Amino acid sequence: MSHFSIFSLARNALTGHKNWEKMWRSPDPKKEYDVVIIGGGGHGLGAAYYLAKDHGITNVAVVEKGWLGGGNTGRNTMTVRSNFLREDSVPFHELSIDLYHQLSKDLNYNLMVSKRGMITFIQSSAVNRIAMQMANTMHIYGAEYRMLSLPEIKQRVPIFSPSENMRLPILGGVYQPRASMVRHDAVAWGFARGADSRGVDIIQNCEVSGIRRESGAVTGVETNRGFIKAKKVGMAVAGHGSVVANMAGLRLPIVTQPLQAWVSEPIKPVLNEIVVIRSYYGTYLMQSDKGEIVIGQGCDPYASYAQRGTFSIIEDATNAMLEVFPSFSRLKLLRHWAGMLDMPFDGSPIISKTDVDGFYVDVAGSGGFKTTPAAAKTFAHLIARNESHPLTENLGLSRFQNGRLVQEGGVSANR
Ligand SMILES: Cc1cc2nc3c(=O)[nH]c(=O)nc-3n(C[C@H](O)[C@H](O)[C@H](O)COP(=O)(O)OP(=O)(O)OC[C@H]3O[C@@H](n4cnc5c(N)ncnc54)[C@H](O)[C@@H]3O)c2cc1C
Repeated sequence: MSHFSIFSLARNALTGHKNWEKMWRSPDPKKEYDVVIIGGGGHGLGAAYYLAKDHGITNVAVVEKGWLGGGNTGRNTMTVRSNFLREDSVPFHELSIDLYHQLSKDLNYNLMVSKRGMITFIQSSAVNRIAMQMANTMHIYGAEYRMLSLPEIKQRVPIFSPSENMRLPILGGVYQPRASMVRHDAVAWGFARGADSRGVDIIQNCEVSGIRRESGAVTGVETNRGFIKAKKVGMAVAGHGSVVANMAGLRLPIVTQPLQAWVSEPIKPVLNEIVVIRSYYGTYLMQSDKGEIVIGQGCDPYASYAQRGTFSIIEDATNAMLEVFPSFSRLKLLRHWAGMLDMPFDGSPIISKTDVDGFYVDVAGSGGFKTTPAAAKTFAHLIARNESHPLTENLGLSRFQNGRLVQEGGVSANR
């Protein structure tokens, strides 16, 4: 609201919203840039923002084939957390939470960061083992992650009333207090405005159809608005990674899978925490600021470019939810949607140079909303300096050659 008084709000309402101040320009592409970023989601826009802010590189274009945030950034369930298993994952995700908690101020744009806490129910010794392993890694990096007894869960979540006939009874929980929800499209818009105000050109409806190279180095991108010359090109296209990397003659170790989510009608506040039920495939739910119960689960287990999923996922997740919250059986389903995710084989993001000089890739992976600011910052570092940020040294493509994988697969369902 800092830019608008109540009077300008009223004036715009009465004049058909024709005089809103534009949040970013819509320039025609220049013939040449120092850096072209492909993909106007949070990762691409954030990378452009940090290129300008941290490295003073402002001759940058973000080219987006549709509209800003229209990919996965505007489709996700807004969960941000850092409970991971590996030493390469936790500090990276912690940086992201730190950045999220200061970004509204940095961008002068309200990202509606809401610290909720996340409870993962423990329903088997396998989940208990993973929780303890995570807690150990997290404690090394100063991240709080602690066990909850059943009475403690009941105290935090008064509507918690698991069925006595649950297939896997709930034995307790594990809790990350810092897990949060962040308004997803505000992240794209905030980064876009911040980048634009530093001179970055944001070009929508501009689809990249080819990546030109000479002597093993990138020279620019072919688009539906003509050829754009570039010294460096960064790719942050989430579910289109294989297609775009292939334009540069590269094959990435990823598979593209659909991921669905759905929301109920809005109800009064009943659920503050984000809860994860791991009895089936890792169902998670939380209540949005609008009052909807937001529900999701792991990816559909097959490769697809369709932005829709199969009904069995909804069925499994609903069963899991109703075992723990039987009163939700009366909720009406309001909306359902899906996105496409590029999944690296070890379940961790890829932020990397490639065999083509000047061509860099950011593959967000399964839970790339939570990583958006950290990925953007470290991707900008990589592009600007042609060397990895210390936090992402082990998240490059070389791990698929040297076998030093950062295995997070199997724990990613709790988005
Ligand atoms: C249902 C669902 C729920 C999710 N929930 C969570 C969650 O709670 N927490 C979490 O951390 N993550 C979650 N995710 C994952 C998260 O949304 C993504 O990992 C993240 O948003 C990726 O951001 P991005 O900027 O890399 O990609 P995107 O936001 O997808 O942006 C990529 C952009 O590239 C553009 N593009 C593609 N090809 C081209 C081309 N050839 N030329 C120009 N532009 C192109 C696309 O149009 C798109 O706008 C969820 C995803 C889904 C689908």
